Amino acid sequence: CSSTTPITATMFPGDGIGPEIAESVKQVFTTAGVPINWEEHYVSTEIDPRTQSFLTWESLESVRRNKVGLKGPMATPIGKGHRSLNLTLRKELNLYANVRPCYSLPGYKTRYDDVNLITIRENTEGEYSGLEHQVVRGVVESLKIITRQASLRVAEYAFHYAKTHGRERVSAIHKANIMQKTDGLFLKCCREVAEKYPEITYEEVVIDNCCMMLVKNPALFDVLVMPNLYGDIISDLCAGLVGGLGLTPSCNIGEDGVALAEAVHGSAPDIAGKNLANPTALLLSGVMMLRHLKLNEQAEQIHSAIINTIAEGKYRTADLGGSSTTTDFTKAICDHL
Ligand code: NAD
Repeated sequence: CSSTTPITATMFPGDGIGPEIAESVKQVFTTAGVPINWEEHYVSTEIDPRTQSFLTWESLESVRRNKVGLKGPMATPIGKGHRSLNLTLRKELNLYANVRPCYSLPGYKTRYDDVNLITIRENTEGEYSGLEHQVVRGVVESLKIITRQASLRVAEYAFHYAKTHGRERVSAIHKANIMQKTDGLFLKCCREVAEKYPEITYEEVVIDNCCMMLVKNPALFDVLVMPNLYGDIISDLCAGLVGGLGLTPSCNIGEDGVALAEAVHGSAPDIAGKNLANPTALLLSGVMMLRHLKLNEQAEQIHSAIINTIAEGKYRTADLGGSSTTTDFTKAICDHL
């Protein structure tokens, strides 16, 4: 697509701080002259019987039609007997890989200056298959599903990503010493795919050891690929290495070229509606979306404006030790543009 043809993208502002940070993205994109028309879809207050969740069929159709979108956080009521909104999106749209880059932001000092890794999480099965039941009173069971098809698909994505992004190593993260059948199959699939990419170094790291290594020396890792639950946990750990959840973006990759970018964090109910949220994670997710659309010039402009605003240190939100509001910080980024 050329940079002048307007592209329609779906936008889910989401819950909690979602609408505030989505507004920030819209302002920054408008200032940067990004040729995108947003098709906004809100989380419904009633369950749509066609999706069995608060997400309407029309919302899902919008992503299927546009093939690209940006999603704010969506709150998941605990134990209310209907499908989680995030799980609905992942399952219905077959968003099989969640890509989470995690890198040190120049100008924002943390314990490490050299973090530059990518976690790739299998997004559709594992412990998050939603298959839980009570066996007898006082005993419940949850099924962890690992399939050859989904494991090969995410491994292939990870190696292809490494190859096309100048990365040298893929580490498969597992607990196959205990979960011999499930994680064992996951590893077997990773090994099969690794053979097709002799130029990429392949290694296997047990999840507990991986946590220790990440905290001690994150520069040991390059691209990490792993089943669903491990990916959820490890990517938050990685966010902590570079300054917290307010900074880390992600993109969900689906079949048929669908890409739905989203911040790693949740709806942050403790600060919602107070103009305190850091919009960086959603903005950087928007940058990932622009790169996916090959709108590289605008992606780089917005990325630099965010980095420069944070590095300058004059406008920072509370999570980064500053006292700026979401709107002040957004305005500072727009001024940098
Ligand atoms: P959370 O990520 O919402 O918040 C954790 C902490 O980080 C809070 O102190 C919060 O204030 C802070 N934080 C998060 N994002 C921030 C930002 N952009 N700027 C400044 N501070 C930020 O996690 P939680 O409290 O465990 O979850 C709240 C809700 O979000 C739950 O309903 C959960 O299910 C949902 N959730 C949704 C997603 C998603 O939509 N992808 C992801 C995680 C959690």
